[in-house]
Amino acid sequence: MIINEHTDWLEIDLGAYKKNIQKMKEITGRPVMPVIKANAYGHGLAEVARAAFQGGAAICGVARTEEAFRIRRKGIRGKILVLGGAMPEHVPFVLSEDVSISLTDPETAKGVSAEAVRLKGKVHVHAKVDTGMNRLGVPVEKGLDFLKLLNNLPGLQVDGLFTHFARADELNTGTTENQLMRFTGFLDEVRLAGLTPSVVHSANSAASLYFPAARFDMVRPGIALFGINPAPEAPLPEGFSPVLQWKTRLISVKTIPPGNGISYGHRYTTTQVEKVGVIAVGYADGFRRMDGNRVLIRGRYAPVIGSICMDQCVVSLDDIPDATLGDEVVLIGSQNENHISAQTIAEKWGTIAYEVVCGLTARLPRIYKDE
Ligand SMILES: *Cc1c(COP(=O)(O)O)cnc(C)c1O
Repeated sequence: MIINEHTDWLEIDLGAYKKNIQKMKEITGRPVMPVIKANAYGHGLAEVARAAFQGGAAICGVARTEEAFRIRRKGIRGKILVLGGAMPEHVPFVLSEDVSISLTDPETAKGVSAEAVRLKGKVHVHAKVDTGMNRLGVPVEKGLDFLKLLNNLPGLQVDGLFTHFARADELNTGTTENQLMRFTGFLDEVRLAGLTPSVVHSANSAASLYFPAARFDMVRPGIALFGINPAPEAPLPEGFSPVLQWKTRLISVKTIPPGNGISYGHRYTTTQVEKVGVIAVGYADGFRRMDGNRVLIRGRYAPVIGSICMDQCVVSLDDIPDATLGDEVVLIGSQNENHISAQTIAEKWGTIAYEVVCGLTARLPRIYKDE
């Protein structure tokens, strides 16, 4: 347990993050590009970036140039690839701070090159082709022309080539095999044309673990390195551990007589004398205003009752008679033998674990442990 003065906080184990990177390297036999977009999936961008490089990351992936900017501003110098959305306006920054960007269409490529030429530099780029995600990237049929264009643009240095899977976390759809077939066919054309860049990559977490043929020169996992299953169908193997715990405290303990409504809207009414607690967590922290939530207190599950408020919610302590003011409460993590994972919460909320951790708001203090 970390002793602190907070009422509601995240404990983030950077040592576990580094071990997960090592585990991923071991399993895939490839260099790893940890994807740390969206504030490192809620875990804290700069702290996780630093840990990633210490833990052996070859390069870190972010979604936006602004994220690369935040990492550099903290004095972190490791390699960074912006996976999407780079614009010619970003060229002065990416040139001076040695950040690589992805190019996903010819127009942007020309604009980026022109700006680089004006500044007398070469931007390091990875070309993205679309093999079936139908989001970013040049359709793979036009991939060779795109790569030729990039190689001919004077302001660009083409270092990498990649694609992205739509359904790697569903193991038996055939979609990933299909995307892989299109990508490897394309890579053959690229090789014949003598244009193979130094790094080819495609695998997110699920593909890294479950589709060995997708590993190519480097893997690109995000969620797995946080110790979270990509999907119930694509669980992590042994040896990965969760990085984040979410904790709060009992800030009030009381008994309420029968027939009383609890919290906004009185959506729960006591049926007998009930022992209840107030915990210092609400929807403004990323807890969802839905029924069916539960937390751990003294190693036992306590159901949330009534509406979740912005800063607090109420839990039933009827089954935890020894619960006391100030007790530590776990929303994500372990207490004694019991455990609540981001996945469990996601299932309750009808979403994915990614959204649960990305939804942890800036108000939550993040307390780092690194050993
Ligand atoms: C987010 C992202 C990843 C990582 O995905 P996970 O499922 O978290 O492993 C990899 N590549 C791209 C392009 C991404 O956007």
